Amino acid sequence: MGPAKEYIDQYLKENVLQSETIHRMKHVIREFSLRTPKVLVTKCIDGRVHGSKLKGYPVTTIRFGRTDGNIVSTNINNFWFWNRIDRVVNDALCNTPGMPALFIAYMHRSDIPGLGCAAHGGNEEAARAAIKDQTEAVRKVFSKEQLYVIEGITNTDLMSETLIFDDGTTVDSQEIVANFGFNEPSEIFHSAFLKYQIKDPAISKNVGFKTPEELFSGKVPDFYADFQTSLSLKSFLIREISAIISSGEMESQKLIQPDLFHAVYQKLSGIKDLPSTLLPSLLYQIIWNVAYTLNQKRKLSKLPAEERWKHLDHAEELICYGEGFELLQRNKAVLVKTGRGDDTDALLVAKKVLEKNRQNDPKPYPAIIHLNVEISGELRSWNDFNENVSSRVNTMIRNLDAVFHNQEMVILTTYSYLDQKRFYPIHTKSDPRISYPTDVISDINGEDKFSGIGLKTKEAFYAGEMIISA
Ligand SMILES: [Zn+2]
Repeated sequence: MGPAKEYIDQYLKENVLQSETIHRMKHVIREFSLRTPKVLVTKCIDGRVHGSKLKGYPVTTIRFGRTDGNIVSTNINNFWFWNRIDRVVNDALCNTPGMPALFIAYMHRSDIPGLGCAAHGGNEEAARAAIKDQTEAVRKVFSKEQLYVIEGITNTDLMSETLIFDDGTTVDSQEIVANFGFNEPSEIFHSAFLKYQIKDPAISKNVGFKTPEELFSGKVPDFYADFQTSLSLKSFLIREISAIISSGEMESQKLIQPDLFHAVYQKLSGIKDLPSTLLPSLLYQIIWNVAYTLNQKRKLSKLPAEERWKHLDHAEELICYGEGFELLQRNKAVLVKTGRGDDTDALLVAKKVLEKNRQNDPKPYPAIIHLNVEISGELRSWNDFNENVSSRVNTMIRNLDAVFHNQEMVILTTYSYLDQKRFYPIHTKSDPRISYPTDVISDINGEDKFSGIGLKTKEAFYAGEMIISA
């Protein structure tokens, strides 16, 4: 399988290394999630709206639902849609008492003609109607104290967000940038914060004892580019912002540019029936996105024309089908999630997008489809493995057959754990398209051969091999 194997090798090595970093920084992610609501975001399968970086939420702290154009059936029979919501609502009830879960349904758009949402043929009103359908249906079922519902718009050019609250209040990052005349991401912070080392010793150590000003300097600022730095700052900022708001020290705070802090705080305070426990995290999310937008603007302005276009337009390299792809960078993959009852429609859209990308930028390997199932618990017996992994993989492969017929392609089949995000390659059936050689379940794939510890050993061996050869 030559070039395809090379591509997948590289892809899986990156995944293993990143999941190691998540593991190492687990405590920081946990600190962050103690101060923020449980969040569910629904959005389009478009690879350009992938991920949670633009919101300032660390990977694994947001759950996603994805459908083409974010169109879903809100019929009570759509178990997948409603169950995803029940999961965050119950998570909030049990783990963040007093703070509702947060649900945001996003559409996406672009200021450049032709780069809007393909699933809606670029029609922004249709895209907006799709998310309105969802928010209206969800608001009818859950109270604001259980689940707070917002509509959102992602601008894929700058990754800026617009949040639309149910009383009509709109907060638009690009508008904030324009009103304040900001040019650089560092401008959203208070000068006193930028100038000195961060006072918290653990955070300061995690960011290499640099001042925030230093973290924003250079061609690729560490503030965004360095995973550990970025994560530590997210945790620090949410903690500080929560403390400022709960102590009522808005006037004397020396963290955020005072006028900006005041403006966003005033706007959020004026929203009718916004649960006060959500105010700090929403303020944090908005301010983070304003800075993120400025960083994207700066980054784009420095790119050569061809690279810039690749960033703005579709440039997905593969199709990812299933769950657990949060570690992938933006625009890497078209993401098809299970759960609308018509996966084949979404796969068809994904196939078209990938074919177009491959025409524009031909590759020495056939189309690659990565199929992953994600599990939240342990796999203790072969029955667990069959029920939660193998059988699901095989059911999903049937959808690929329906969409890709006899087309040449390579299928990578893997599973991952919710909190680890590492893909373990497996072979669940004999199929020449599943050609990547690694198979962590080989030799233990049967009731009499399987053991939980046996599987753990094979998983650790696989990860070790990938790290050594990376
Ligand atoms: Zn779309």
